[in-house]
Amino acid sequence: MTVDATSAYDDQNIFAKILRGEIPCDTIYEDDHALAFRDINPQAPIHVLVIPKGAFVSWDDFSAKADDATIAGFIRAVGEVGRMLGLVEPGYRLLANIGHDAHQEVAHLHVHLFGGAKLGPMLAR
Ligand code: 5GP
Repeated sequence: MTVDATSAYDDQNIFAKILRGEIPCDTIYEDDHALAFRDINPQAPIHVLVIPKGAFVSWDDFSAKADDATIAGFIRAVGEVGRMLGLVEPGYRLLANIGHDAHQEVAHLHVHLFGGAKLGPMLAR
């Protein structure tokens, strides 16, 4: 089922449970603003999800409602994960799905970080 990006935040979503420690994850980075962990169904040799610690449904919700320090902290965390994984020189891809057409499945903002191989053109047609 895909997410309505305009809906209210539901704290029973799977990433909220991961943040509360109710469901395990393979954490690779954590700071005050963000948690990064490996995707359970990787689509590239390296596939990491970076999520903010606050309750935001999507990039739309986050960019509209988060305060500047929260936005800065999250974006810096995403960059830090890319550097930590040694992916800046070979390159990597970030992707955030927002709502139905983008096929967002989890209703807590997450940025996908893909790397570890040549990733090909941006979208399959
Ligand atoms: P979306 O389509 O919402 O952008 O992506 C959701 C991602 O979350 C998918 O890539 C999916 O594999 C991943 N995912 C769903 N449930 C879990 C989980 O319980 N643990 C982890 N690590 N990843 C999950």
